[in-house]
Amino acid sequence: MSHAGHHLPNLGITLHGRNVTALSLLGASAPSTESSDRFKAIGPQHLDDLQRRFGLSSDMVDGMRLHAAVLPFRVNEYVIENLIDWSNIPEDPIFQLVFPQPGMLPDLTTAQLELLRSGGRASRERIELVARLRAELNPHPAGQQEHNVPMLDGQSIDGVQHKYEQTALYFPAQGQTCHAYCTYCFRWAQFIGDPDLRFAAKTPEQFVGYLHAHPEVHDVLVTGGDSMIMSTERLRSHIHALMGVETVRTFRFGTKALAYWPDRFVNDTDADDLLLMFEEIIASGRMVAVMAHFSHPRELSTPLVQEAMRRIRATGAVIYCQAPLMAHVNDDAQTWADMWRAEVSAGAVPYYMFMARDTGPQDYFEVPIPRAYEIFTEAYRTLPGLSRTVRGPVMSSGPGKVMIDGISGEPGSLIAHARFLQARDPELVGRPFGAACPDDASWLDDLTVLDGEPTDIASEIARFC
Ligand SMILES: *Cc1c(COP(=O)(O)O)cnc(C)c1O
Ligand code: SF4
Repeated sequence: MSHAGHHLPNLGITLHGRNVTALSLLGASAPSTESSDRFKAIGPQHLDDLQRRFGLSSDMVDGMRLHAAVLPFRVNEYVIENLIDWSNIPEDPIFQLVFPQPGMLPDLTTAQLELLRSGGRASRERIELVARLRAELNPHPAGQQEHNVPMLDGQSIDGVQHKYEQTALYFPAQGQTCHAYCTYCFRWAQFIGDPDLRFAAKTPEQFVGYLHAHPEVHDVLVTGGDSMIMSTERLRSHIHALMGVETVRTFRFGTKALAYWPDRFVNDTDADDLLLMFEEIIASGRMVAVMAHFSHPRELSTPLVQEAMRRIRATGAVIYCQAPLMAHVNDDAQTWADMWRAEVSAGAVPYYMFMARDTGPQDYFEVPIPRAYEIFTEAYRTLPGLSRTVRGPVMSSGPGKVMIDGISGEPGSLIAHARFLQARDPELVGRPFGAACPDDASWLDDLTVLDGEPTDIASEIARFC
């Protein structure tokens, strides 16, 4: 079936997905979501239904309700029906990925629990408690706010981060949500409308001006949230403006829609039009890359996602795959080996395995660096060469993307061998360095660059950690 053959006209924007976040529990209004007419978000107000439908225990649902008072919770029918093995909860990895779990919040006192349970009423005390808990979960990792805001003519450009020379990240305002929320998400502050995160771009004009002034930017990475949450019409209004800039040669679209809502590329009313837009970009002589977030091989297993990937590839776009390594979700080598194989079988390119960011419920998901290296290497070893495009474990940190290339020594005195894959300072890229690595180190700031390593590397890391 050729999508170009039954290209539908733009039908306008449909607004049926309801965004139910912690804020709406507090009585504040949640941002609206653009999505298909078929997509329905399932949120905290559906927990009773879910309890009945899947026989969840009252304790489990109570825990989810508490959690949802602090962090956003959203799932949808596709994920519930196709990705979760309900005979294996709570251990099921996709259940862990989307449903809040005990242990994801900091320890709460009985009084705090009572206050959170008091629900619906937006008492001052409750609002303050929720704000405090959110602040503890640090939604502003790695100095993103201070360090990466681009300027043009003395004005900051909304919705853009320009950290690595050739690549700029673009956050359209209408793309700051997702078809379901990962419990490990570090972008949840965007979903709850954190006023400190006013960085999304409502329209592309400012960014277009910036790109004209910065011809070194060849690559625009449209992200969110999820770039595919926008209607095609909305997305196209951003993309067409950016296509006016000749020096932009690649458009990347960051998305978890292949995992959470593959219909975005298959049966949604504007799915065909989206694929047509990819073809238009490609026809202009540019590259389109769909940067797919797959956390578990099961997400690649349904006929619908297979069809979605086939249709994307038929446009000439290339699918690159990346995900963080997370305890309870995908912290074993077999899972990654299976996932990378499934990606290559579907014609996609395994790209990055990330370490968990230093934000959100990190303790719950934490995998120490030495263990992460072991999981990566054990999985990598079993792969044919075509899957060995993947790199990891990678920490996307303040100074850049740091890959752990090896671990040597004995427990208690481990050395991490690392190098920058990307760096704010291009001079640092590709140069190896050694760092003392405590057995339980989980992030760059737990490492100590060894004496005698290049001082520019040591000082750039020290500047951020
Ligand atoms: C990861 C990342 C990119 C893209 O890096 P690639 O290695 O080209 O995929 C761009 N900007 C920022 C801020 C990033 O974190
Ligand atoms: S898909 Fe990405 S942005 Fe969306 S909830 Fe998951 S981690 Fe967050």
